[in-house]
Amino acid sequence: MSALDASTPDATAEKTPIVVTGVAGFIGSHCAERLLERGETVIGIDEVNDYYDVKVKEQNVALLRKKGSSKFAFYRGDICDKKLLETIWATHGKPRRVVHMAARAGVRPSIDDPFVYVHSNVEGTTRLLEIAAKYGSDSFVFASSSSVYGGSTATTFSEADAVDHPVSPYAATKKACELLAYTYHHLYNLHIAALRFFTVFGPRGRPDMAPLKFVDKISRGVPIQQFGDGTSSRDYTYVDDVVQGIILALDTPAGYQVYNLGNGSPTKLTDFISLVEKETGKKASIELLPEQPGDVPRTCADISKARKMLGYDPKTPFADGIRKLVEWYREAHPHVGETPECIARAAMERRLM
Ligand code: NAD
Repeated sequence: MSALDASTPDATAEKTPIVVTGVAGFIGSHCAERLLERGETVIGIDEVNDYYDVKVKEQNVALLRKKGSSKFAFYRGDICDKKLLETIWATHGKPRRVVHMAARAGVRPSIDDPFVYVHSNVEGTTRLLEIAAKYGSDSFVFASSSSVYGGSTATTFSEADAVDHPVSPYAATKKACELLAYTYHHLYNLHIAALRFFTVFGPRGRPDMAPLKFVDKISRGVPIQQFGDGTSSRDYTYVDDVVQGIILALDTPAGYQVYNLGNGSPTKLTDFISLVEKETGKKASIELLPEQPGDVPRTCADISKARKMLGYDPKTPFADGIRKLVEWYREAHPHVGETPECIARAAMERRLM
């Protein structure tokens, strides 16, 4: 494979479309929406897998089709499919900017099935790096994760910290992606940014993650599971802030860079649950369980590098984000807890626990 002018930014780059992988997912769909709002043409790719409810992803794609109209194209398929990527690049004028969000996400399930994580995350990222190197690229940004910091006991995680002790297969695949990205930058002089996200939440959030799961279950009177004694803490980051960081990184190619995109202010699990109780107006019923393998006790981003180099400025305190998430949830589920079906489903979930 030869690198065609990989190092030379194309003067027409502003006019070429932006490829967004994982576009049917939570962060990818928000990012594509924001890019369409600023007038970009977006080529979305997603295999729409059933890691969580497929309907949620189909609704995200429908929303983007409506919003983007002729400025949005969608390809359903695997990013590991070389032919699919070649077709997309040939059909859409060899896109020179990539926002790569597709991955198998989730820490705990990666312990049960590491191979699917290696396929989508490591092989998938390599496929995209290959095509970016082959046709030339002005800016390639991709989703890494705070999980690469492993069980670090540092007060805040800085990009300069060593991250060679991932504690789950998911984290290990994200670290592998960072290493591969550095190699492609080195070989083909690509501008690549690895973006380490810290527990992203907000409207249309992932149903497998605590913020939406807790809002949903507490609203419906279904017990939630608390792993550990409640003192663990996470640097929850509101989705609009993360999207702001992704687009700033895309617009600021600077060789190979790693950026923490967090909020810089962690919240304890027990405080998080109290906040959801306050916003939903419902008391949580809590099932206490031991800590899970692969989980880390605390995450906290040092975001000074992203602030300085990108002008990244997260604006949503956790409490405001939870309020917005609950508002969205109420709008999306106006009769939650009221219809006979809803009451029966909640009763069944309580019995199954
Ligand atoms: P998500 O599961 O909602 O979105 C990922 C999308 O990628 C899904 O729609 C899925 O169908 C698609 N996908 C997976 N494998 C694919 C493949 N082989 N080919 C094509 N499509 C594929 O997850 P998200 O929360 O939106 O996460 C986006 C990115 O950010 C992921 O890379 C994730 O690892 C990373 N990340 C997320 C968080 C978070 O808190 N949400 C934190 C750290 C990192």
